[in-house]
Amino acid sequence: MISNNELYLTTNEAVTFDPNYRYKAPMPLFEIRKVKGSQITYFTNSSIIASSIQFNEQLLIKIIGNELSCRSGYDDNYRCGFFKGVFEKQQINNIICYVIQNYIICQVCDYPEIEMYVKKGCIKQNCKSCGKKRYVKNELEITKIYQIIVNHLNK
Ligand SMILES: [Zn+2]
Repeated sequence: MISNNELYLTTNEAVTFDPNYRYKAPMPLFEIRKVKGSQITYFTNSSIIASSIQFNEQLLIKIIGNELSCRSGYDDNYRCGFFKGVFEKQQINNIICYVIQNYIICQVCDYPEIEMYVKKGCIKQNCKSCGKKRYVKNELEITKIYQIIVNHLNK
């Protein structure tokens, strides 16, 4: 959730009033640049965001690119993710928040201390904070994001 110009890793709105809440990340930053005649949206701090939410950077870029239905990848010169086309930051932030809410935050204790792995083809979450092991909500299994994460974890 986005509040006070920061990305909070929680579903509990009350913690956004707690100045000492530690599970937060800086705001994702984007910049549109014209490269060889085409407009490209660069996710300029993708490395910082991925490490703050403890999520694989390439995987995050791939998920966002897939949701935006555009070509995406990692730009070695700028050392960040990119999406071919012009996109609103709000649109990308919504995807990031969706990933955080469903895959990074524990459904039991609400802390972002999840370790994901695949069991019998399904994504299971092991929470390092409260110790609960659970499958990701099964209504998510039909989504493309779910499949992308399964493929990544199976690599
Ligand atoms: Zn937990």
